[in-house]
Parts: sequence; C-alpha cells; structure tokens
Amino acid sequence: MPKPGELTFTAPPRRSKPPRHLADLTPAERREAVAELGEKPFRAAQLSKHYFGHLSDDPEQWTDMPAASRAKLAEALLPALMTSVRDISCDDGATRKSLWKLFDGTLVEAVLMRYPDRVTMCVSSQAGCGMNCPFCATGQAGLTRNLSTGEIVEQVLAGARALARGEVPGGPGRVSNIVFMGMGEPLANYKAVVGAVRRLTDPGPDGLGISARSVTMSTVGLVPAMYKLADERIPVTLALSLHAPDDDLRNTLVPVNTRWDVREVLDAAWHYEGVTGRRVSIEYALIKDINDHGWRADLLGRRLKNHNAHVNLIPLNPTPGSKWTASTAERQEEFVRLLTKHGVPVTVRDTRGRDIDGACGQLAAAEV
Ligand code: SAH
Repeated sequence: MPKPGELTFTAPPRRSKPPRHLADLTPAERREAVAELGEKPFRAAQLSKHYFGHLSDDPEQWTDMPAASRAKLAEALLPALMTSVRDISCDDGATRKSLWKLFDGTLVEAVLMRYPDRVTMCVSSQAGCGMNCPFCATGQAGLTRNLSTGEIVEQVLAGARALARGEVPGGPGRVSNIVFMGMGEPLANYKAVVGAVRRLTDPGPDGLGISARSVTMSTVGLVPAMYKLADERIPVTLALSLHAPDDDLRNTLVPVNTRWDVREVLDAAWHYEGVTGRRVSIEYALIKDINDHGWRADLLGRRLKNHNAHVNLIPLNPTPGSKWTASTAERQEEFVRLLTKHGVPVTVRDTRGRDIDGACGQLAAAEV
C-alpha cells in the first residue's frame, strides 16, 4: 500500500508482456504481421472486419478464408487476453460489472451501463493506480501494471459482444460511449491508451467506429500528457478530476497537485479546449464538510467562468477505510446554485453501480 501522498508514475518492470493481439496493431502493422505469417496482406482487412465489424473471434465463422489460414491467423493474432471471473449486475441488469483475469493473473474490472438512448462502457487503463487519491479505492491499492492496448480494447469488445448477443436486458444493442474512468490513470499509460482510442474510433473495418466525441478521457491532471493529447488531434472529451479549486485542499485530495497545481492544470485544460474546440468536463466529487463549502463553489465558479467548461458533480461513493461521506442534499443544491450564478453549467452525475461496488472510485478488482 502506498503512503499518503506518495505518487507512482511508472509501473514496476514486468517479467513478461501480454501476447501480441490484433488490437495492439495499426492497420499497416496488421498487414505486416499477416505477411510475416505467409498470408496475403489483404487477409489483415478481412480479419479486422471479423474482429471489429462482426465482433467475431471464432475462426469457424470466417468463411471468406481458407480453413488453414483461419487457424493460423487466429492463433497468431487473436490470443485470449482475458478470461471472465464473474459478472455482477444491478439496476435490473442495465448496469453490469465484469471482473477479468489477464494472462499473468492480474485482475481488472470494467462496467457497462445501459441507458434508454446509449450504452456507456467504463474501462480500466491500468491494473490499480499510482495516483493515490485518498477517496478512491483503486488508488489505495497502488499500481500493479499498465494494460496493453489489446487489453483495453478487449474490455469494450467483451461488452459489445454481450450486447450484440442480447445478454443485456433491452434487446440487442451497441456500445455508443466509452469513458476512461475505470481503474487507473489513463494518461500515465499514454501510448497504450491512445492506441486503444484509435482502435475504438477508427472507422470499420480498421476499428470499432465509435465517435471520438463519445469517448471521454478522465485524468487527475498530468499536465504534459494533456498537452500531448491535444496534439493527437483526436477530439475526445477531456474530463479533469479537479475536486478542489484551491491548492491547499487539492494537494491532499489529488496528490499529483503537488506536481502540477490548479492553475497549471486548468491552463492545460483550456489549451485542450482551444485546440479541439471541445467543452471540457470538470469532475468534482462532493465530500461532506471537506470540499463542499460555499466559498469553494464561488472560487470554482470564478476560475471556470468564461471558459467552455462544464462541472460534473459526483456524490462521493463509499470506499473501504474512508471516513468521508457524500455531501447533504442541501449542500449539493447550494453548490449547484452558486456555480449556476457564475454562469457555469453543472450537472450531477447519476452514479450507477453503487450496490455492486461498481461506481466511480469503487473498482478494486478483488476475487472475493
Ligand atoms: N484516474 C482517472 C480516472 C478515474 S475515475 C481520474 O482520476 O480522473 C473517474 C472519476 O471518479 C474521477 O474523477 C475520480 O476522482 C472519481 N472518483 C474516485 N473515487 C471516487 C469516489 N469514492 N466517489 C466519487 N467519485 C470518485
């Protein structure tokens, strides 16, 4: 367990890497990989179409290829990256948390949330997290390792397959939105995460064809990586976990603030806003008597007004060992009122999955 405030930016070295997977590769790399196996390069596009387009990882169904090629390609490029440990649901099946075991025994969780008009998948980018926010269960356990691009993409594909098969109440459906709000700090695993965003947003047959605008990258505020992300020119929505408008408090709630403070992190957010033209989302978990004071709402309002920003208030979800609780309804309403007075748009997050420890900050991926 990390000591309070201790930050871990790089994962401990790994003995072995996850097996190479189609989803790790760019379309050009896929053609090379297929050619190296002695197959015609156009098989790469066929394989991509089966995997991303038809969500099929079963070679039996790839009737446009000779049987010998199918077996060879499946074995070389579609290894099983994760096995299901269990699924738990609530909200009559509309919210479902899945626990997966990776090739090295590492555990990871993802959450699928079905709404009348969309299906959102909350995915993990790391096993554990090194950012040590004291109100988040994932942060308390520390960082185990980075996930590969394939391991991130497979979480979405697993959800997409379950939806396509009609396993989620509401009839067959598709994943429409992705939020990088599961375990881990996505921008601390930059390369794999950006690779995953490309696979998820590239149009078929190269990728899953989800709109970049429907993908949200949530970060504690790793400033250099925020600038880098703006340069990728993929218009994903940026969500910044602010949780306090002043450095004194943010230093304890989001320890990385001791590296890049509120001013620096907001400057990076406004840069992102300027480059992408996208509205930035400011996450603020309301914690009773800790960050829910009127003066903090005012300060937050002053810091955000005149920017294309929106505040997403998250009623604090309970986590083991934390003495903190959610703000009262009155405090929450007052917070909303004060921000609105400053002209800052604000919504309160409908936090799904609390009964199954699947809500924001509750993912800990334990087998028992
Ligand atoms: N590492 C990323 C993604 C993590 S989770 C980040 O920090 O942004 C997504 C959101 O849930 C973050 O805003 C995080 O601060 C918030 N969160 C963590 N623990 C929470 C809790 N116990 N209750 C409510 N929100 C929480």
